[in-house]
Amino acid sequence: MSIDIKTLANQGVNGLHPYQPGKPVEELERELGISNIVKLASNENPLGLSPKARLAIEQATTELTRYPDANGYYLKAKLAERWQVDPAQITLGNGSNEVLEILFRTFVAPDSEVLFDQHAFIVYALLTQSIGATAVPIPSKAWGHDLDAMLAAITDKTRMVCVANPNNPTGTYLAPAAIEAFLAKVPESVIVVLDEAYFEYVEPEQRANTHQWLSRYPNLVVSRTFSKAYGLAGLRVGYALTSAQMADLLNRVREPFNCNSLALAAATAVLDDDAYLAAGIELNRSEMARFEAYFTERKLPYIPSVGNFITVEVGEAGAIYEALLRQGVIVRPIAGYGMPNHLRVSIGTAEENTRFMAAMDVVLAER
Ligand SMILES: *Cc1c(COP(=O)(O)O)cnc(C)c1O
Repeated sequence: MSIDIKTLANQGVNGLHPYQPGKPVEELERELGISNIVKLASNENPLGLSPKARLAIEQATTELTRYPDANGYYLKAKLAERWQVDPAQITLGNGSNEVLEILFRTFVAPDSEVLFDQHAFIVYALLTQSIGATAVPIPSKAWGHDLDAMLAAITDKTRMVCVANPNNPTGTYLAPAAIEAFLAKVPESVIVVLDEAYFEYVEPEQRANTHQWLSRYPNLVVSRTFSKAYGLAGLRVGYALTSAQMADLLNRVREPFNCNSLALAAATAVLDDDAYLAAGIELNRSEMARFEAYFTERKLPYIPSVGNFITVEVGEAGAIYEALLRQGVIVRPIAGYGMPNHLRVSIGTAEENTRFMAAMDVVLAER
């Protein structure tokens, strides 16, 4: 009984730091002994579940003794119609996080290099390290991705470049033309993952149907999710749009029943709930303006965001985060993203945001 199990783990695993999720509401309730906690920490849709999704979930409970549809036939059919792609170009995941995981397992080896922005979504770094591959963080430009620096960093070993657009946690956005120019210069042997978890929040005139570039760039992956604007974070569904050839590979690596029946049913139904999607986007738009006005008034520099969250510079963010917790408000510290002076705040309902602003005023007055 003297073996140190750590010595058996694959290269990279011992150095991993577990992903730090937003603090659960129930946990803070127990700690503070209060019940009206506001959580603005995980970029979830504050409107609650879509009624169409709820109905579909209820109906799908009759099927729960059976395995889910391993091919996600109905969801893929609906997505294919929506995006005008072939269902064979779609890979479903248990959240787009799993889509990323499948991509890494398919393409990234221990001797590969993976490029991503220094302040990008942290899962890219976690996956790179868990494989024992080499992460190459690229310095940001004005908190956003520097595509020229990414191009310059590509070597013979580079197998994947991850571009979060909009990026989390900074909320920065690259115009479609810039990404297309980037794709034209990236060698075809480098997989470009365009992570569009917040796609729906980008104003229609500012975004492009990037998946329409797939026929020209066989190395492109467009990943999207039902966790944010579609309000299904707890069910875990995301998907990749790729060439059919790439999807065939990804679907071989994918665990057969990775999306559960309730998730498949809810995601299929919510795609028909245009009113729900539009209401969430409209709420986000008007409340984002309120946050901007509030931070401007309080002279707190914020990073303009096109997502459903806003990142603000507050000084010692750890202490402010703790002080906000004592006020019953959970936001997200992002020191793990190399931003120890910032907090990321998800845009909630008007009422939740008012609670945040009042709590922040108390905290600022204590300083
Ligand atoms: C939230 C998020 C995801 C993953 O969300 P899932 O719930 O796994 O679909 C992926 N990328 C970015 C940038 C995100 O912020």
